[in-house]
Amino acid sequence: MQHKIWLSPPHMGGSEEKYVKEAFDSNWIAPLGPNVDGFEEDIAKYTQCGHVAALSSGTAAIHLALVLLGVEPGDLVICQSFTFSASANPIRYQGAIPVFVDSEAETWNMCPEALESAIKACLSGKVSGTSKKGKKPKAIIPVHLYGMPAKMEAIMDVAAKYGIPVIEDAAEALGSSLKGRMCGTFGDLGVFSFNGNKIITTSGGGALVGQDVEQINKARYLSTQARDPAPHYQHSEIGYNYRMSNVCAGIGRGQMKVLDQWVERRRNNHMFYREALRGLAGLSFLEETEGAYSNRWLTTVLVDPGKAGVDRMMIMDALAKENIESRPLWKPMHLQPVFRDYPFFGKNICGMIFDSGVCLPSGSSLSEKNLKNIVQILKKVIKT
Ligand SMILES: *Cc1c(COP(=O)(O)O)cnc(C)c1O
Repeated sequence: MQHKIWLSPPHMGGSEEKYVKEAFDSNWIAPLGPNVDGFEEDIAKYTQCGHVAALSSGTAAIHLALVLLGVEPGDLVICQSFTFSASANPIRYQGAIPVFVDSEAETWNMCPEALESAIKACLSGKVSGTSKKGKKPKAIIPVHLYGMPAKMEAIMDVAAKYGIPVIEDAAEALGSSLKGRMCGTFGDLGVFSFNGNKIITTSGGGALVGQDVEQINKARYLSTQARDPAPHYQHSEIGYNYRMSNVCAGIGRGQMKVLDQWVERRRNNHMFYREALRGLAGLSFLEETEGAYSNRWLTTVLVDPGKAGVDRMMIMDALAKENIESRPLWKPMHLQPVFRDYPFFGKNICGMIFDSGVCLPSGSSLSEKNLKNIVQILKKVIKT
């Protein structure tokens, strides 16, 4: 049996150990320390996002963003339905009500028109399970799924029209941009993840970013147990243990040195699949819209069983038999048992995409031999 080909495994560049060793040599093993400061600077410089708080996860970053925006029990928070559950879970940590919004078919991300319908319904008290008086949502969470930039200009226009802050979930989109502006820097607050499967990793970690230094400082304070300036431990607010450790940040500093290369490799994987599978009936790839640059975190393909003669499960089975990992797309939140009772606005475009899509192995460490192997299996199972 050949070695397993994973969907998106961690990929070290070489200099990570140097920074981790520095942390050991100086005994900066505790949270905070020079690697945390250095990693935050690296991200700020790379993304031009302003200020950065390095945290223990992307989920923690979304949670703190909601806390900073004053989200409380019973508040409404609008969230893209087509995403990983970590975009939506923190809404419930705050006791708030998620209002899910459909995707548009071009980027698979939040549909600006469905967003506006959702806001109007919230304002007019037409959202089931909430007070009839109507309520302005406290935040909007769009996502750049699989690294593909969402239609941020249109989304920000709608948000500005109604005066609602945007938390931009760029967990999968570090290195992606729209008209030269990095994903994660359009919203009032932006979120990155450095989990093991993301484009770069700190083994586990995340960041909250934004232009407002006060807000990011507040996030740092909340993430380190909300200590008041006093010699004893004194607290006037509820805090969290969400800060990134100096050891993890050392890995992050090394990874930042190879981020652009890793983006290029993932984009090359995508081009390889696209070229090699051209002409196979019933397969289609997600195109970049004008001005969009995707990090192609994962290459996804939609399968039309009527034309391809196979469905996505048969493709996944054929790959699994050869020890190759593939996955369905994220199952939309409005279709998840845990979120079934919350409102959803749209025509279930994301549900249809979910039904026919597959994520192909996309790691930056894939070899050409791996890619050829995968393509061969796909060509065999799709006999057209
Ligand atoms: C990975 C991910 C997160 C959460 O990040 P963690 O660092 O794993 O907590 C949030 N949103 C999306 C879209 C993600 O893919």
